Order: sequence, then C-alpha cells, then structure tokens
Amino acid sequence: MKLALPLKLAPTPQQQHAALTLTMQRFNAACDAIAETAFRERCANKVALQKLVYYDIRQRFGLSAQLTIRAISKVVEAYKRDRDIQPRFRPDGAVPYDQRIMSWKGLERVSLLALGGREIVPVRFGEYQAARIDRRRGQADLVLRKGVFYLFVTIDVPEPPEGEVPDYLGVDLGIVNLAVDSDNVIYSGEIVEKNRRVHEHRRRNLQRKQTRSGRRKLRRISGQQKRFQQNINHIISKALVRHAKDTHRGIGLEDLQGMGQNIDGKRFRKRQRSRHANWSFAQLRRFIQYKARLAGVPVVLVDPRNTSRTCPACECVDKANRPSQAQFLCISCGFAGLADAVAARNIRARAVVMQPMVRAARHDPAGVVPGSRKRPRDKPLTLVMGFMTGVSQFWRRERWLRSGM
Ligand SMILES: [Zn+2]
Repeated sequence: MKLALPLKLAPTPQQQHAALTLTMQRFNAACDAIAETAFRERCANKVALQKLVYYDIRQRFGLSAQLTIRAISKVVEAYKRDRDIQPRFRPDGAVPYDQRIMSWKGLERVSLLALGGREIVPVRFGEYQAARIDRRRGQADLVLRKGVFYLFVTIDVPEPPEGEVPDYLGVDLGIVNLAVDSDNVIYSGEIVEKNRRVHEHRRRNLQRKQTRSGRRKLRRISGQQKRFQQNINHIISKALVRHAKDTHRGIGLEDLQGMGQNIDGKRFRKRQRSRHANWSFAQLRRFIQYKARLAGVPVVLVDPRNTSRTCPACECVDKANRPSQAQFLCISCGFAGLADAVAARNIRARAVVMQPMVRAARHDPAGVVPGSRKRPRDKPLTLVMGFMTGVSQFWRRERWLRSGM
C-alpha cells in the first residue's frame, strides 16, 4: 500500500530556499500556460500535448526537460478530471519529483533539480519518518506549507495478511457522535461542533466586511477548520483500529455504497451540517479503512438498513424504537440505550455473521441479520477530546502519525 511520508526540508543558506521557491513558482506558471493550450486545443493526451508545448515552455520558463515533462503530466491529469474547465495552478502548488530529478545523498540530504541546477537540501526527520524512510520509492512531491518546504515521499508499506478473527468491533459513524463502537466507547462530536460554530461565527463576520484581507482570512479559517477535523479523524480512526487489533477483532462498518444518499439524507437532515459533515464523515471512514489495512485488521461492510431501529435484545424492528435522535427504547421489550451504541452492536452482530461472504459479495443485501441476543453492556464511556483545542493541529497530527500507525 502506498502512503505519503512528509519530510521537512531545511534549505540553507537563504538562497536555497529562494531557489526552491522560484522553481515552484515557475513550474506552476508553466502549468498554467500548458493548461491554456490543452484547453484551447482540447488535448488531454500527454504525447500530443508535449509536441505542442514542449519547446515553447522550456524556452519561456527556463525549465529543464524533465520538469517540463512533469508539468505536462500534471496538467493532463488535472484536465482529464474535468474537461469543461481550464485548470488553474496556484503559484505554490506541489512540484512532483521523480528519480531523474531527485536523488538521495545518504538519508540526511536530498538533491533536487531547481532552475539554477541541483540543490542539495538537508532533510529533517523524526522517529516516525526514520523508521519508514527505507521504504521510499522514486517519487515525491515538493510542497510549501506556511513558508516551510516539505517533501512528501511515496513509501510502500507492506500490508500484513488479514488474520482470521473470531469477532468484530461494530462501529457506528455519525455526526452528534462521530463514532460509537460496540464496546460502548463514544467519540463525541461535541468538540468538532463547537469548533465549527466558532469558525462559522468568524466567517460570517468576515464575509460581511468584503475586504481583500478578509477574503484571505476566510481561506485561512477554512483551512484551519479542515485540519482540525482531519486531526480528530486521525485520532479516532487510530484509536478504533488499535482497539480492534488489541482485542483480536475485525471492524464492522455500515456499507453505504449504493445506498449512500438515503442513509446520509436520513442521518444528516438535522440542521445545516450537510456538506462539511458529509466530507468529514467520508474521511473518517477512509481513515479507518486504510489504517485497518495497514494493521492487518479485517474490515467488513454490513447492510446498514435499520441498524438503529433494531432491538438488540428482542430483534424487534420499528421506527418507534428510536423516540429521539439520541435514544433507543424498544417498544416491545423495553430495552433502552444510546441509539448509536445500539446501532454499533447491531453492526457487530451483522459483521460476525456476514464475515465469510462479504468479500465475494459486498453489496449482497441478503446478509441482513437482526441484532444479537448479547447482554446489554454497562454505561457508555465518553472520551473527552477537549485537550486538543487550540493546539497547532498540523504538528499534533504529525506527532500522532509518528507515534504509531
Ligand atoms: Zn426489544
């Protein structure tokens, strides 16, 4: 499985930083120029486009042969995604490097081709990076973030074989609670919601002002909020996967593909939420899935229908079993609990039963199984994540990444 490993670069002296910056700007300006031709000529073919622009671009922008080729591929990839618009490139967009224009000088330095020739740039890395750097492949992206250069190196991480697991940890993903597992651990969404509201407020104030600096601030705020959310998703997914692994279980999730709209519509109708919530929800699912793969924890996707309406005690399925968003109260046997925790238990029960057939027929709805008859667990435990507010999110995430998965 391929992952991107971020390495911090420490260009010295000052001129080296300037050389990388200039290369990056020139590269992206070249991309813009190439995109203009690609769009005008309706050309999304690398070879054909190269014939059209190669010499002109090299001359106008002073790029090396290989950087010109990389720019052409970058444009073609962007243009292919949507042929109705001419792609635009930010001056600080990523520059892809391959073996021909990048080489390692030991582990501490990397040689990158810049406009004025090769720059040998010192690399900083922590334990997490040091443990994985020998898995690097030939590709990397040069990225500028808040004035600091990073090299996102592609690494090939082996996937441990998925063992046979006797049991599953059911995980219900949502908005009020970002995740609840079948062991009754609740990852509350409260802190995210609070953060969102604060940002929302600041955003509205800035939008009213309509100034240039206001617009810039707006962009920054949306970036901050995104990273905050991403950081939380990393933490939750990591905790879930580790918990499943430590207890020798797989993970059961709801299979939302194909029925996505219905399920999401149902779940997300509450207040605005909508786009932001959908984006974050999908990201958390992705994170759980890839971290599970890396840890060798099998993931089973189960039929999501009625997971929060089915009674785990008596198997009664009824809309009325869920009198409110948070609550579950069985109309037939009186079983009561937190709705999301009930859903997680039902997901677990389905995962256990579906296990053998799931990989062959993922979307086969035949595997619907009502809840199990296990005893109700004790009181839910809520993880408090308040300690993370206001910390530099990017770095905290780095630390979390480094510390384990
Ligand atoms: Zn019941």
